[in-house]
Amino acid sequence: MDSLNEVLEKILQEHTGKQAGQQPKEQKQYECQKCKDTGFVEKVDEKGYPISIRCDCYKIRLAKKIMDQSGISTEFRKKTFDNFQTLQDKQLVNAKRKAMQYVEGFRQTENTRYNSILFCGQVGAGKTHLGTAICGTLMKERIAVMYMAYRNAVTKLKQTITDEEGYSKEINLYTSARVLYIDDLLKGRLTEADVNILYEIVNYRYMNNMPMIVSTEKSPAELVDFDEAIGSRLIEMCRGNIIQLSGKGLNYRLYGNGGVSGG
Ligand SMILES: [Zn+2]
Repeated sequence: MDSLNEVLEKILQEHTGKQAGQQPKEQKQYECQKCKDTGFVEKVDEKGYPISIRCDCYKIRLAKKIMDQSGISTEFRKKTFDNFQTLQDKQLVNAKRKAMQYVEGFRQTENTRYNSILFCGQVGAGKTHLGTAICGTLMKERIAVMYMAYRNAVTKLKQTITDEEGYSKEINLYTSARVLYIDDLLKGRLTEADVNILYEIVNYRYMNNMPMIVSTEKSPAELVDFDEAIGSRLIEMCRGNIIQLSGKGLNYRLYGNGGVSGG
């Protein structure tokens, strides 16, 4: 299987019409021929004035950069649907089927109220594997997914909170992404600032019907208990796609490493 980086390179190349061996030498230095790597293209607005708009390559490039920084690129290679082991466990079989159905139906549900998916369960239950497999598959279909490592992202946002421009640039990564993957939602100690930041992201995406893929150790009830406004919005958006991996003795990582029973 191609690594995520190779996949993204291919996307960028196809997207920008770059074909190996067919370009004059002086054009080869740009990754994107359309904008010559400036990230902007010139257009004319409805009144006939020239304007600069973001090139289509921008979101793909940005998603790639964030994933490279987060180290998740390696995970995409490792965690696919093909190598998710269900171990004939009914819960895991269903979880995998749901995840694959979500990807198949993505383009139909994308702009609807119920366009998101939630994986709940303990560490090692397989939720991150399935969430990552969904993201990897969407990326291959040229759907830019922004990865948000919940704890790190919120910490970084809090550090920029007094810098209005910096904060809005940073939070915009998560509000404006076509698809947002929130990994390990509500992990760690929570402050009021965490809640406010999370609400800002979730509410924006809720209001605009923008899909989220969420993994968390909390149960749906715990999400609502934690904060009703955030929890209820998430649960509404994930209707029909809430997957709980919490059965007794279900420890995917232990099983996967050679059949040691989780109890
Ligand atoms: Zn471009």
